[in-house]
Amino acid sequence: MTASNETQISVTRTRTPGQRPADASLSFGKVFTDHMFVMNYTEGKGWHDPRVVPYGPLTLDPATSVLHYGQAVFDGLKAFRGADGQIRLFRAQRHAERLNKSCRALCIPEMPVDLVRRSFEAIVAADHEWVPSTQGTSLYIRPTVIATDVMLGVHPAHSYTYFVICSPVGAYYKEGVKPVRILATDSHVRAVQGGLGEAKTAANYAASLSAQQEAEQAGYTQVLWLDGVERKYIDEVGTMNIMMQIGDEVITPPLAGTILDGVTRNSILQLLRDWGHKVSERKISIDEVMEAGRNGTLREMWGTGTAAVVSPVGELGYKGEKISIGNGQTGLLTQKLYDAIVAIQYGQATDAHGWTSTV
Ligand code: PMP
Repeated sequence: MTASNETQISVTRTRTPGQRPADASLSFGKVFTDHMFVMNYTEGKGWHDPRVVPYGPLTLDPATSVLHYGQAVFDGLKAFRGADGQIRLFRAQRHAERLNKSCRALCIPEMPVDLVRRSFEAIVAADHEWVPSTQGTSLYIRPTVIATDVMLGVHPAHSYTYFVICSPVGAYYKEGVKPVRILATDSHVRAVQGGLGEAKTAANYAASLSAQQEAEQAGYTQVLWLDGVERKYIDEVGTMNIMMQIGDEVITPPLAGTILDGVTRNSILQLLRDWGHKVSERKISIDEVMEAGRNGTLREMWGTGTAAVVSPVGELGYKGEKISIGNGQTGLLTQKLYDAIVAIQYGQATDAHGWTSTV
C-alpha cells in the first residue's frame, strides 16, 4: 500500500538499549540513539512501510546505485529539551518541505510531507531519553534518502530507502559565541546556476572538501564561496548562509538557485524584519564587502545554520588581504539574534511564528 500523510508508523523497540553519554562529553554526530526510522520506495507501490526499528547497519549490495552516482539527499534539524522538560522540534515542517524539494532536484519521488514531519516526531518520541537537557545541547536529526537500485546504469533509480537517524550533540559554543576567520576563494566553486547548489545533496559536500582543506591549511575556519561563473558575488560560507550589516542595511545573498534555502536564514530574516531592520536579499560582490571593510562601514558579518545558529565572522581574507570585522569580537546584532533564536528553541520566549512543535 502506498503511504499517505495518515499512514500508521509501526514501532519495534530495541531489546538492547544503549546509554546516553553525559551531556558534557557530547560532541557532534559521533553517538547515535537506539532507534531509526525507515521507509521504502518501490516502483508501482510508492513509499511504503514507515517504521521505527532498532538502530543498525544497512546492508547494501556493492552495486547499489547511490554508492556510485550519489543519488542521495538529506536534511538536518534539531530537537531541544527546555527547562520545562518539554521537547521541541525547530521548524520541522519547513525541514520536511525542504527534504522533498531536494528529492525533486535529484529525481527522487517525493514523500507525503506530513508523514516526513511525523517521522521526525516518531523517532524523537521513541528516543526521547536521548535528548540531552543542558542548555546548548540538542538531539540532531538526520533524515536521508538514498537510491537503492542494484545496477550500474546512470539514471534515476526505481527503488529508494528513506531513513532518519539521531545523534545527541553537545553545545556548539561551550564558552560563549566565538568569531571565526573565513577565506573567500576564487580557485574553487561550490555551485552554478542550473546545478545542485540549492539541494541538500551529498555531491555539494564532496565538492566543498578540497577548498575547505586549503582554507584550514591557510589558518582559516571556513570557505566563503563566490558564485561559480564570475567568481565575484558572495554565495555561502562553509555549510552556512552568510549575512552582513553594512551601515544600517543587513544584506544576504538572494535565493537564486545556487545556495541552500537555510531554515535559520529564513528565521533570522523574519526576526530582523519583526524588529524593524532594513533587510536586503540581494547580490553582493566580494569587492563591495572588502571596500566596506576598508572604509569602516562593515559592522558585522555572520553565518547562519542549524549547527551553530549564528557564527560571527571576525576576519575575512581575500587575495592576500585581511579585513578585521568588529575588532574580531561578536557583534551586538549577531549576539541578539543568537539569543532570540535559542530562547525560542528552548521554550524560554514566545514563539510568535509557531516555529516549534512539542513531541
Ligand atoms: N548552506 C549549506 C550548504 C548548508 O549545508 C546548511 C546547513 N544545513 C546551511 C546553508 C544552513 O541551513 P539551515 O539553517 O537550514 O541549517
